[in-house]
Amino acid sequence: MSIYDKYEAVIGLEIHAQLSTKSKAYTSDSTEFGNLPNTNISPISLGHPGTLPRINKNNIEYAVKLGIAVNADIREHNEFARKNYFYADLPKGYQITQDTTPICNNGHITLFPNTDKERNINITRIHLEEDAGKSIHDQDPFNTLIDLNRAGVALVEIVSEPEIKSAEEASEYVSQVRKLVRYLEICDGNMEEGSLRCDANVSVMLKGSENFGERTETKNMNSISNVKRAIEYEIKRQIDLLEAGGQINMETRSFNAVDGSTFLLRSKEEAHDYRYFPEPDLQPTLVKQDYIDRVKETLPLMPNDLFKKYTQEFGLSDYDANIIIESKPVALYFDKLTSLTKNYKAAANWLNGPIKSHLNKNAQTIEGLSNMKPKDVAEIIELIDSGKISNSIAEQKIFPLKINGKESALEIAERLNLIQESGDDAIVDYIKQVFEQNPDEVERYKNGEKQLTGFLMGQLMRVSGGKADPKKANQLIREMLG
Ligand code: ADP
Ligand code: MG
Repeated sequence: MSIYDKYEAVIGLEIHAQLSTKSKAYTSDSTEFGNLPNTNISPISLGHPGTLPRINKNNIEYAVKLGIAVNADIREHNEFARKNYFYADLPKGYQITQDTTPICNNGHITLFPNTDKERNINITRIHLEEDAGKSIHDQDPFNTLIDLNRAGVALVEIVSEPEIKSAEEASEYVSQVRKLVRYLEICDGNMEEGSLRCDANVSVMLKGSENFGERTETKNMNSISNVKRAIEYEIKRQIDLLEAGGQINMETRSFNAVDGSTFLLRSKEEAHDYRYFPEPDLQPTLVKQDYIDRVKETLPLMPNDLFKKYTQEFGLSDYDANIIIESKPVALYFDKLTSLTKNYKAAANWLNGPIKSHLNKNAQTIEGLSNMKPKDVAEIIELIDSGKISNSIAEQKIFPLKINGKESALEIAERLNLIQESGDDAIVDYIKQVFEQNPDEVERYKNGEKQLTGFLMGQLMRVSGGKADPKKANQLIREMLG
């Protein structure tokens, strides 16, 4: 048994999600990403004396949406507090947050939904707060530059219970949270741009122990795979340290994406005392049940609702349904497509097969597919189902031309003379040709080798150039051979 098998990991995640409202948390400054530095600012976000913050109602709405979606208890009486610390990118000298009255408590995130690994991770709390500005260290050789465009942008912080057991589960947790906020359209979920940030609290203890070990908190992972790498590294580092007789100290660490390691940022002794106190400039915000009910009515269909619809109403496999709900734009595409065709299975096959692989090959998104809209896929399915073209002709000849051009599937089929013969006369002619060319096989079939139908069908497809309707042809061959 390796030393690593003696231990189990305990992980709790704190996720900050930047709310995609148009203006900041407590001012009307724009939140647009990528503007010139220090243009999305005002005396309020700069914390000038005499200015007053005001609650942005949309942020409350977004947090309530999230709370409903994770089945949380939503607080009626919300207070705000000042979290005080001194830093150059925090002009007010404090952040307005919710200290003891988070807008949501409880609720859960489901890992691996609708599979046999499905498991809930409980949420401790979700609270509203505001972001700080950005310190830029790598653009000027001598000075640190400050961009305050981000100062005051609204965030929700989602804190999980320490119930996550592995790096794999942690990355699944983050991807489920990202999927959720994207479905809800409350955050763009972009980790590279920092709209979604994850801090990982990690500890280890001997297997079966009741007492958690001391934890470290690792920051600065800008992708889901880096969350996984950082946690894997941290679990191993802690076990190695304990096995060598050392001890884990409560500390904040940072992730280095170049070599996958974590390094000490600050120890607990240096931790800030934030001296929280009630924000005197903001009234408590009341979130009443009838408001929650009204927000509930605006919630879009969520992945789980879609999963049920696709498996129970449409008869898709769990596997197909899970692929489709993975991303909201793909699910929207499928929803549109299935309003145009009732052949749901074919719709899923086209989407998860040829369309997906085209997107992957060309590093394209489904929104950018201008020549293969849901109506175009529906047309192809209709051509196949009405017997005009075969499935293989559609996939091999028509699909590649259609996805790269304006011509409709039917126009392509007609231009290339691919419309399948389903009239008995035409097929009978082809079959006669096949019989003439393969007298031995016909003889053997008549003597009982019924499996030769496959061979004869293959010949028929060759002779007809793939244009004979296979179902009809199969039936006619059997009839003609008695
Ligand atoms: P802090 O202010 O110290 O960051 P929070 O309450 O904001 O504390 O967050 C604590 C996070 O650490 C939560 O996600 C919680 O689940 C997690 N956590 C607490 N104890 C442990 C532990 N022993 N090992 C791993 N994670 C832990
Ligand atoms: Mg914290």
